[in-house]
Amino acid sequence: MRALITGSRGQDGTYLTELLEAKGYDVVGIGRGDCDLGDVDAVVGLLREVAPREVYNLAAATFVPTSWDDPAAALSAGVTCGALLAAIARVDPGIRFFQASSADVFGTPDEVPQNERTPYRPHSPYGAGKASADHVVAAYRAQKQLHASSGILFNHESPRRPAHFLPAKVAQGVRAIVAGRADELVLGDLDAKRDWGWAPDYVRAMWLMLQQDEPDDYVIATGEAHSVRELAELAFAHVGLDWQQYVRVDPGLVRGDERMLVGDASKAHARLGWAPSVTFEQLVQLLVDAAA
Ligand code: NDP
Repeated sequence: MRALITGSRGQDGTYLTELLEAKGYDVVGIGRGDCDLGDVDAVVGLLREVAPREVYNLAAATFVPTSWDDPAAALSAGVTCGALLAAIARVDPGIRFFQASSADVFGTPDEVPQNERTPYRPHSPYGAGKASADHVVAAYRAQKQLHASSGILFNHESPRRPAHFLPAKVAQGVRAIVAGRADELVLGDLDAKRDWGWAPDYVRAMWLMLQQDEPDDYVIATGEAHSVRELAELAFAHVGLDWQQYVRVDPGLVRGDERMLVGDASKAHARLGWAPSVTFEQLVQLLVDAAA
């Protein structure tokens, strides 16, 4: 069994590569610069050369705030997804396809928690790019009968995420204080809440989606919302410190983001047998233990 992973050098790409290789797959990874994923002919050539049975499309510009400065990169998510599906339809419609979508397709949702029927109302270029990719997936599935599935992924973390993502920032900040390299951790809105999971659980869900007889879209989430305050409290408590003595709030970092993005993954539980294996407290401890 051979799989092709785009974005294979990122957080999820490396975990997915390890998962698939442990299952006996031959994995071919594509990184930035290896192939123009928006060019159907180039992707056709790639698929003919690699001959995968499964394609996992993880490549994307993934930091939401920078998508405002580079909307073309964010919106290319739909173009890339479409080119991959068009190439699959041309080369071998039996190839199974996974698209990494995001909770950001929901924007500021009216309903909590969000599920696969929650309306898409993205309010960032990043969310708009991911939403367009999901519509393309649904179109190729319905009109070209491809085995194409989107995972609507809520935040998932690991030591492999860079420090501009908040859980990594907190974990590294705690480590810096313990080591005496810093005496405070500066954060923004402590009341902001997110649904944070453990990245290896999320790549397992990607694989499960492609093992189903029928393709479909699935919300992948823990179903729990936790605040930045809870995150900081647990991270400092794990090294025996009181977070209130070290955390300083910079009003300039408060984005006023009151969105309640929390996912209802009951469809994935029922059909894929998927469930997260790591609690929020364990996740925070894993991040702090691994931080430098
Ligand atoms: P990363 O940023 O760690 O990985 C994305 C990878 O895609 C990077 O290696 C990047 O390369 C690569 N890439 C970007 N553009 C291209 C391109 N044009 N061609 C080839 N490769 C490219 O993200 P994650 O692993 O965390 O996320 C994986 C996927 O899941 C992404 O699509 C993301 O949007 C989605 N997702 C992730 C969530 C999360 O919480 N982690 C939540 C929701 C969705 P480079 O390093 O050179 O930039």
